[in-house]
Amino acid sequence: KDDQARVRSSYENQGTVMTPAQRARWGIHGLAPTRVETLDIQKRRAMRLLRSKATPLEKYIFMAQMRTTHTHLFYKIVIEELEELAPVIYTPTVGTACLEYSNIYPFLAAPGVSDGLYLTSSGQEDLVTMIKQYQPFPNEHFQPEIAVISDGSRILGLGDLGVNGIGIPIGKLQLYVAGAGIDPRKTLPIILDLGTNNSAFLEDDFYLGLRQRRPDDPEFYEAVERVIQSIHQVYPDIMIQFEDWSSEHAFGLLEKYQKKMLCFNDDIQGTGAVILSGVINAIRKVQKESGVLPPDHRVVFYGAGSAAIGVARQIQEYFQIEHGLSEDQAKKVFWIVDSKGLVTLDRGDNLAQHKVYYARDDNEGQQYKDLMAIVDYVRPTCLIGLSSIPGAFTPAVLTKLGSLNQQPIVFPLSNPATQAECSFAQAMEATSGRVIFASGTAFPAYTTPDGKTHIPGQGNNMYIFPGLGLGAVLAKPSYISDRMIYAAAKALADSLEPEEVAQGWLYPTLHRIRQVSAIVAAAVCREALEENLAQAPDVVALKSEPEAKLLNLVIQQMWCPDALAAPQPSTSRI
Ligand code: NAP
Ligand code: MN
Repeated sequence: KDDQARVRSSYENQGTVMTPAQRARWGIHGLAPTRVETLDIQKRRAMRLLRSKATPLEKYIFMAQMRTTHTHLFYKIVIEELEELAPVIYTPTVGTACLEYSNIYPFLAAPGVSDGLYLTSSGQEDLVTMIKQYQPFPNEHFQPEIAVISDGSRILGLGDLGVNGIGIPIGKLQLYVAGAGIDPRKTLPIILDLGTNNSAFLEDDFYLGLRQRRPDDPEFYEAVERVIQSIHQVYPDIMIQFEDWSSEHAFGLLEKYQKKMLCFNDDIQGTGAVILSGVINAIRKVQKESGVLPPDHRVVFYGAGSAAIGVARQIQEYFQIEHGLSEDQAKKVFWIVDSKGLVTLDRGDNLAQHKVYYARDDNEGQQYKDLMAIVDYVRPTCLIGLSSIPGAFTPAVLTKLGSLNQQPIVFPLSNPATQAECSFAQAMEATSGRVIFASGTAFPAYTTPDGKTHIPGQGNNMYIFPGLGLGAVLAKPSYISDRMIYAAAKALADSLEPEEVAQGWLYPTLHRIRQVSAIVAAAVCREALEENLAQAPDVVALKSEPEAKLLNLVIQQMWCPDALAAPQPSTSRI
């Protein structure tokens, strides 16, 4: 290997951790202070500096610089201090970072270091060249295993952010490394820049993307097809995660590609699985404590986008598989609300394709617009917010739910917290502490008048997608089936320790994320085996072996910064 390239590699050059001998070998002795440090000391120093930063965005920039200069230190910190760092490298701060990307981009990485792949609607030959050129770690010609791709058209709940949306693929892949031990050298963040309809950005001097409006559908789908083909031309086995595409395209792309290649859409399927998992545990809890039978639930979705429909599909599958409801009965558990009100067949507008399936026909000609009226009419046991409308679950609506149910299930899931339909405190206050709650972005704990502190659930996609992706790249099924997604959700719901259940939690603690991801990944592998879709020999060999062996295989695959912390002695010298 070329020593100069090693020196430049944020993966290999670990700064003051390097011994004098290594420094001499690489020709960099005397170019850094003499002290030889441990990764632990480097971490302590970095944490102090990180915590001294005044704003979350400054912390984000600091961490981005660390990632592109010292990969091991970055991941050691993210893994060991995940609860502190997840809000910095992912929601909510990644939302701010995307809004500001054009203002901060040049200061995020050292010259020559690319933080992601910026593709446009080029010809396939060009695309292939660009994809091959993306080698963030010089001298490490690793084949990426997972790509996360967005077109920036619907970033979190913040709308069309164009090329600024690159922060999302970058952030998600960091969570893959932290949460599931994907090797950071095998990750590929991609933004497909086809323009933006964000007029503020189009007029912003600093905006870094194409200054054009988004193309029409035929051109859009062709551009995406070319990109997918080019990615596969370079990396045939890669798994592709679609992330933060506007709903009008998200469903179409999923339908087109789901069974043709190894891919999934996290906003539809990952969200569906993670929320189903929380709903399963909420339904179990309400059955145990208030005696409500699962088929008696009535679920209102406030919001009818990719997330809402994805979640409804998953919960429907649960009612069919676990509680024996027919498709028609299970579908009737849901009432969907969009910006025009309750989605019904007789509403007299052209319903988007993804809404038609859940449109109600039992409203007897009535049109329900306002949420309070809808709650009065439906008398839901469960209210799920995926609308990006802050405060939509008003105290009056929450109080009403509390009067209808001993334990109302309320999931205001819009991200970031500024977009949430209500806060944990508001839901607790309106229901005198009886609410069963989970949000998208974590809310602070709430102390009831009796002095008891309650910790809200967080339906964080991070509980599912890293494990799902890891399971998929290990088992190498030809595609990711709906049953594999369902298996992931079920495994997450069952992954809680007895003490976590006793605390009333719907999700396990984030401390255990790697363990949870391993459980999810093993469940995905198992399902791929059951369906005879798994192709990886080492997984196929475990088909009739006990579960523990599969789990072991998964855990052994997980990348860990400490195991590699000290640069390996070169064998040629021994
Ligand atoms: P989306 O496709 O833009 O959907 C938003 C939906 O909200 C649309 O159906 C829209 O109605 C509806 N809406 C807008 N204004 C409304 C109003 N006043 N009343 C009722 N409905 C209204 O977005 P998405 O991908 O589904 O994501 C939605 C939110 O969920 C985002 O904030 C996202 O961050 C969050 N999310 C959370 C998680 C999680 O917690 N794990 C995961 C994924 C997404 P129209 O269809 O009529 O326009
Ligand atoms: Mn998303």
